[in-house]
Amino acid sequence: MAELRAMLIGRIKRTPSVESFRFRLPEKVDFLPGQFLQVIFDEQNRENKELNKYLSISCSPARDYIEVTKRISASLFSGRLLNLKQGDEVLVNIPMGACVFKNEYKKIAFLIGGIGITPVISIIEHIVEARLDTDCFLLYSNRTEEEIAFKKELDYWKTANKNIKIFYTVTECQPKDKTCLFGFIDKELIKKVACDLADRTVFIFGPPGMVDSMCNLSLQLECKKENIKTEKFAGY
Ligand SMILES: Cc1cc2nc3c(=O)[nH]c(=O)nc-3n(C[C@H](O)[C@H](O)[C@H](O)COP(=O)(O)OP(=O)(O)OC[C@H]3O[C@@H](n4cnc5c(N)ncnc54)[C@H](O)[C@@H]3O)c2cc1C
Repeated sequence: MAELRAMLIGRIKRTPSVESFRFRLPEKVDFLPGQFLQVIFDEQNRENKELNKYLSISCSPARDYIEVTKRISASLFSGRLLNLKQGDEVLVNIPMGACVFKNEYKKIAFLIGGIGITPVISIIEHIVEARLDTDCFLLYSNRTEEEIAFKKELDYWKTANKNIKIFYTVTECQPKDKTCLFGFIDKELIKKVACDLADRTVFIFGPPGMVDSMCNLSLQLECKKENIKTEKFAGY
C-alpha cells in the first residue's frame, strides 16, 4: 500500500446525486479490480472519520488514471470533494481490500444496490478490456431510473459482450423503460431473470444492510458460503 498525492484531472456527473472524480497518480500503482482507497483530507488527524473516508475504485487497473465515485451528501467530506478543482491534490492510501477478482472465476454474479456498483465497474471494465470470457450476471437495484449510475457504460458492455448479462430494477415507482424491472432483488426477481446463482461466485458490495440481505438471499438460494464475496461500505 502506498500513500501518494493524487492530482484531480476530471469530474463526471453520473446521476443527480452521484459524481466520479478522476486522479493522476505520481507513479503507477498496481491494484486489483474490486479494491478501494482512502481519501485523506485531514492529514494531521488520520483518525478523523468525517474527513478521511474509503471509496472504491471505479475503473479498471489498465487505465492511466484512478477514478472514485461518491454518492454526494451534505457531509463535510462531500463538500471537500465537490470543492476540488482541476490540478488540486489530495492524499490517498492505495490500494486496499480483499474482495477482488483475479480472473479465477468462470461464472460470477453481482447483487448490487445503488452506490455498491463502483467496484463492479472496475471488475467488468477489466473483464471487457482483458477480453476474458468470464460469464457475468449483474442485478442492479436503484430507487429510480435516473439514479442508475454508469447505465451508458453498462448498456454498451452488455450489448457488445454476449457473456455479460445485466438487469436493472427500480423500487420507487414503475419504470418507463420496459426492459427495467420493478421491485427489490428477491427470490422472485432472481427466478424471473433466470439467474443460476448457486452455480456462480457471488459478489455483493454496498451499504451494510444491503450486503446482509443479499447474502441471506444467496444462502437461501443455495449458494455456498465460500462462494459469496462481500465488501461492506461502512459509513452508510
Ligand atoms: C470499503 C468501502 C468502500 C466504499 N466505497 C464507496 C464508494 O465507492 N462510493 C461511496 O459513495 N461511498 C463508499 N463508501 C462509503 C464512504 O466511505 C462513506 O462512508 C459514505 O460515502 C458516506 O459518506 P458521507 O460523507 O456522505 O457521509 P454522511 O453524509 O456523513 O453519512 C452518511 C449516512 O451515514 C449516517 N452516519 C454518518 N456517520 C454515522 C455514524 N457515526 N453512525 C451512524 N450513522 C452515521 C448519516 O446519518 C447518513 O445517513 C465505502 C466505504 C467502505 C468502507
